[in-house]
Amino acid sequence: MSTTPARKASQISRRKIEEVISGQPTSDGAGVRLTRYIGSQFLPELDPFLLLDFFESDDPNDYIAGFPSHPHRGFETVTYLLAGKMRHEDNAGYGGVIEAGGIQWMTAGRGIIHSEMPEQEHGRLAGFQLWVNLPAKEKLCEPAYHEYSQDQIPVEHRTPGVDINVITGTTCEGTTGPVKGVVTSPLYFDIRLSSGASIEELIPSHHAGFVFVNEGEISVRSDTSSDTVAARQLGVLGAGNAVHIEAKSAYARVLLVAAQVLNEPVARYGPFVMNTRAEIEQAITDFNAGKF
Ligand code: FE
Repeated sequence: MSTTPARKASQISRRKIEEVISGQPTSDGAGVRLTRYIGSQFLPELDPFLLLDFFESDDPNDYIAGFPSHPHRGFETVTYLLAGKMRHEDNAGYGGVIEAGGIQWMTAGRGIIHSEMPEQEHGRLAGFQLWVNLPAKEKLCEPAYHEYSQDQIPVEHRTPGVDINVITGTTCEGTTGPVKGVVTSPLYFDIRLSSGASIEELIPSHHAGFVFVNEGEISVRSDTSSDTVAARQLGVLGAGNAVHIEAKSAYARVLLVAAQVLNEPVARYGPFVMNTRAEIEQAITDFNAGKF
């Protein structure tokens, strides 16, 4: 009789939910209504994540103003669209349209000026924007893009009732997402579970992570607890090297996102995120001098 399963189980430390965040309604850009989950007073930061916004509306008045020309320096912006279309253009001549199910992982690095505008005048627009910090040694790197449409993102059909869109990172079944080479080694999985289905995933212990429930309700089970996260709530994952998620509703859709903790000082001013105040002042000087 093999002892492997018992030994394996003892090495697994399932993360529990440390905190549930319901998000703060706000607006940004030229007046886009959104809900902020990271980067608000309730959860100012989840190192290396600096911001998570969720936007969703059928009313063009909520989104049509978009995010006209603005700069970024020192981190990465990640846009994942669930519905609608967003046009993106930058000062280096790069541009494109992100459509439903598509991802854009933009490394702002030393500086970029771009606009993000709805490519529609009516209908539903929904999605996420996540900001992922860069370590000090990469903050002034060359700007770069990873952009993939829905049909370029693999879907792992793990078991009946468990489907995973793998955007970045590798699942424990070996499915790898198309976004590669990101310095914080992120995982970004969009998981769909049918009633009673569950999934266990490994997350390196030096990663910080969260779940965001897009539809339905889930429970996150550790060896000592079972925590419920409801629709439109973010659950901050505690310490451990795995996560166990179970659907508590007829259908659940949940984002599982994690990345390596940086443990560096954060100096933040609007769209600039550096390590020191002096570097922020330099960013403002460079931007005003047209050096982005
Ligand atoms: Fe932006």
